[in-house]
Amino acid sequence: MTIQEIISYLEEIAPKEYQESYDNSNLICGDKTLEISSVLCALDCTEDVIDEAIQKNCGLVVAHHPIVFKGLKSLTGENYVERTILKAIKSDIAIYAIHTNLDHSWVGVNRIIGEKLGLENLKILAPKEAILYKLHTYVPSNSAEKVRNALFEVGAGDIGAYSNCSFNADGYGTFLAGDEAKPYVGEKGSLHQENEMRIEIIFPKHLKRSVISVLKESHPYEEVAYDIVALENEHSRIGSGMIGELKEAISENEFLEQASTVFNLSLIRHTKLLGKPIKTVAFCGGAGSFLLNKAMIKKADAFITGDFKYHEFFDAENKILIMDIGHFESEQFTPELLKRLLEKKFHTFAVLLSGVKTNPVHYFIS
Ligand SMILES: [Zn+2]
Repeated sequence: MTIQEIISYLEEIAPKEYQESYDNSNLICGDKTLEISSVLCALDCTEDVIDEAIQKNCGLVVAHHPIVFKGLKSLTGENYVERTILKAIKSDIAIYAIHTNLDHSWVGVNRIIGEKLGLENLKILAPKEAILYKLHTYVPSNSAEKVRNALFEVGAGDIGAYSNCSFNADGYGTFLAGDEAKPYVGEKGSLHQENEMRIEIIFPKHLKRSVISVLKESHPYEEVAYDIVALENEHSRIGSGMIGELKEAISENEFLEQASTVFNLSLIRHTKLLGKPIKTVAFCGGAGSFLLNKAMIKKADAFITGDFKYHEFFDAENKILIMDIGHFESEQFTPELLKRLLEKKFHTFAVLLSGVKTNPVHYFIS
């Protein structure tokens, strides 16, 4: 298996187009054409993780957090970032980061948190806008099914839990083939009228190139008539954070207890208890305080994330229970998720979980 094959698969699940502008989800170092026999999954890629990869003979480390965020101007080993990259390059170990694009994925960082918490009816808390397009195309009626199926095949026509969604209307098209034309139907130089179907199909922007390419391949006409229109709609399955419901409402203390068991915590920073039951829970792995407002608008009883600042706790306004469980702790299941995703697709090589605890934050409990 080449590194490129693994990356292509991961990018079907978490397309790079959906990472934040500050992010660096990418192959950070390494030769993507190399064949590898095992992968190491980690939350952070540190020198210790590279040592582990050397020891376990893994040619690729798939990490959630990119070790390099901004460009490097030198590579001399003066800090932990440079030392990690140098060690990886010297040992022929590739590093691939899958960060905010995995945060935004329907089967990503937040999905596994929701599962671990036993939440139902999971939805994206802040769906991304402006990433949906609509294709309108005009196909001779007898080829409509073939074109439609080709578009479905590459993933167009998915709306929430439904696939193969399209709208189809009968009509007729006209054309007059010029001297250089090779018309599929009709005669050169005479106005032709053909029964056609107008097909409308929605698709997310990372599929644009493949949608256009299969449209042109499957459509019988020499010149394919189509429009691609950018939509303002939200994509219900791509975005930040998630929200879900507990099977039954429980007290705040019971919920704090449950969260500390699920995440194996000795400490939770939280806002004042409000004396109301917890049923709807919003959450975001990592630094999710920017989603507090969304969680409150959607009437979540509790919001779990990491990296809340002192002043941000006041924003709860006695309406929601903010629970800051720590950045590392909130994302601790991400390596397990990566392992699960890779094992689902590839059966011929080993996918290992890193045993290095990379959390740079330690707690002193007296
Ligand atoms: Zn993070």
